[in-house]
Amino acid sequence: MMRIQLSRLLTSAALLAVAASALAQTTTPAPKPEDTEIWEPVPKVVTATPNFTPPPSDAIILFDGKNEDEWVSNKDKSPAQWVVANNVLTVSKSQGNIETKRSFKNYQLHLEWKVPASITGSGQARGNSGVFLASTGSGDAGYELQVLDSYNNKTYVNGMAGSMYKQAIPLANPGRKPGEWQSYDVMWTAPTFNEDGSVKTPAYVTVLFNGVLVENHFELKGETLYIGKPFYKKYDAAPIKLQAHGDKSEPMSFRNIWVRELN
Ligand code: MG
Repeated sequence: MMRIQLSRLLTSAALLAVAASALAQTTTPAPKPEDTEIWEPVPKVVTATPNFTPPPSDAIILFDGKNEDEWVSNKDKSPAQWVVANNVLTVSKSQGNIETKRSFKNYQLHLEWKVPASITGSGQARGNSGVFLASTGSGDAGYELQVLDSYNNKTYVNGMAGSMYKQAIPLANPGRKPGEWQSYDVMWTAPTFNEDGSVKTPAYVTVLFNGVLVENHFELKGETLYIGKPFYKKYDAAPIKLQAHGDKSEPMSFRNIWVRELN
C-alpha cells in the first residue's frame, strides 16, 4: 500500500516538474543577440574628410608607425604581435585583441583606421574591429566604440561605425569608402564607483567620426554586451583595447594613435 502511494507521488512530482519546465520555456525564452539590435531610423549620410591630427605636445603616443612597444596581448600580456609595416598597424586575428600597457581614467583619444579596399562580407562581418575605451577584462570585456565598414553596408544601427556597440546609435553616418583612412576623436569620462561597487557617476562619451559629431556626451548604461542588457562592473583605471574580430573578412589597419590624460 505504502509503496503504491509513494510511486504515485513520485509520478505526480515528475509530471509537475515536466510541466513547470515546459511553462518556463514558453514564458522566458533564452536571450538572443537580436534582442538588443535596433535597425531604424537609419542615421543620415554625411560626406566628411578624416582628420590626420598630429599629436599635441602633451600626448602619450600609443602608435606612431614604428613599433607596438605600448601594446600587449589582452590574453596573456605578452608583447603585441600585430603587423607593423609602412607606418601602419594591422590586426593579427591569430593573436586576438591587444591593449595598452598603460591604464587610463579620463582622456582624449585620437586614432585613424582603415577598412581594406578589397573587403568582402556584409553586415557585422565586414571590417569589424573596435576600440574598447576601457578594457575591463579578457576578450571583449569593456566599453566598445564600434569600428566597421559603414559605407553602404546595412546592419543594425546600434552596431554601425561610430556606435557605442548596442547602446548609442551614431547621430550621423560620415563613413568613408573602404580603402580610405578614417578618424576617431574620443572624449571619455570614465565611470566612478562607490566602495560597495555601486555606480557613483556613469561613463560619458563624445565621439567625432571623420570630424563629425556622432556621440554627444552620451551617458552609458554599463559595459558593452553582445547578448543582454548592459550593466556596470567596478573598475578603477583600465587599458585601451583594439579588437581582432572573429569574422572572416580581411583585417583592419590603424595608425596615428595618441591619448591625452584628463585626470
Ligand atoms: Mg567590433
